[in-house]
Amino acid sequence: MSTVTAYAAPSATEPLTRTTIARRDVGPRDVAFDIHFCGICHSDIHTVRDEWGRARYPVVPGHEIAGVVTEVGAEVTKYRVGDRVGVGCFVDSCRECAQCRAGDEQYCAKGMVGTYNAVGRDGEPTQGGYSGAIVVDENYVLRIPDSLPLEAAAPLLCAGITLYSPLRHWDAGPDTRVAVVGLGGLGHMGVKLAHAMGAHVTVLSQSLKKMEDGLRLGADEYYATSDPETFSKLTGSFDLILNTVSANLDMGSYLGLLALDGTLVELGMPENPMAVPAGALVFGRRRLAGSLMGGIAETQEMLDFCAEHGVQPEIEVIAPEYINEAYERVLASDVRYRFVIDAASLRS
Ligand code: NAP
Ligand code: ZN
Ligand code: ZN
Repeated sequence: MSTVTAYAAPSATEPLTRTTIARRDVGPRDVAFDIHFCGICHSDIHTVRDEWGRARYPVVPGHEIAGVVTEVGAEVTKYRVGDRVGVGCFVDSCRECAQCRAGDEQYCAKGMVGTYNAVGRDGEPTQGGYSGAIVVDENYVLRIPDSLPLEAAAPLLCAGITLYSPLRHWDAGPDTRVAVVGLGGLGHMGVKLAHAMGAHVTVLSQSLKKMEDGLRLGADEYYATSDPETFSKLTGSFDLILNTVSANLDMGSYLGLLALDGTLVELGMPENPMAVPAGALVFGRRRLAGSLMGGIAETQEMLDFCAEHGVQPEIEVIAPEYINEAYERVLASDVRYRFVIDAASLRS
């Protein structure tokens, strides 16, 4: 076992503080790597504040992890010391069920093992990337293409794949009218990726404050959802709506923006249930769907796509001491567009 420095939440109401955690010894199929950068996802905040009711304290969040390999187990074939690698939202799954075999490990029938706030196959709690180093089975490690800086690659491992996967699943392309609801960490990746896939992209944000950014990121149109006219004007306009909002929305209003046979994909995971008026689905044969991150192979495909198309997140790199303040800013929608922790001071 080794000891690494980390930032942990001791409870739902206390700030994250510096601490130490144990990492397992490197097993035959394990890759150990130094963490260079870790993104802050809104899911980290939902988890540490126990908004999903399943937090296990102390919890070290962080599932947008990028770094450099320091050690590999004897049977590791995919990675070598010095490789640039990443880990996203899960670090294991059963490997046997239909989903695992199909490369949809995130939907593992037995439940994937989350990168943090879960229990690993060894029975130990998993702890995430707000830390100096991590040990992960090679099959759950991603390769970061050379042209992607590590700090830019980190947010791709959750925010990037969470938008890439539904865009691919629902065949976004030049003939698709895509709306992205919420221009935060996930949303801004949705705009960039949908634009790179050739779709017609509309941002639906609470206000027009970030309009200039949205258009620069690749949006064709931008509307404020605080303006009731937005909803009358855009009725029936979209084939695909990707909802990234972390709070409850009036689902009926948003479903009404879908064209015939359109799909609203719920990506945000607000604390409380949302009411869905049946008529909003029935009239227009509309669909309401959900989507969770992406599988390992698809995540690698996404990283390679981003490298090829020059798609990178807009980030603000912070020191670990700033994590609690960064959380407040995320909650105030004051993030452009992902905080990324520089883990240098957490490495031994
Ligand atoms: P984020 O950076 O905070 O972005 C959320 C955006 O939602 C904000 O920037 C804001 O955009 C909008 N918003 C926030 N509060 C709102 C409100 N009360 N009403 C309307 N709009 C509001 O968060 P994130 O990291 O992108 O994560 C977003 C959500 O996705 C979270 O719930 C997270 O847990 C979830 N998530 C899901 C998956 C998955 O696999 N499905 C993966 C990662 C995260 P504007 O300022 O533009 O309005
Ligand atoms: Zn996330
Ligand atoms: Zn499985």
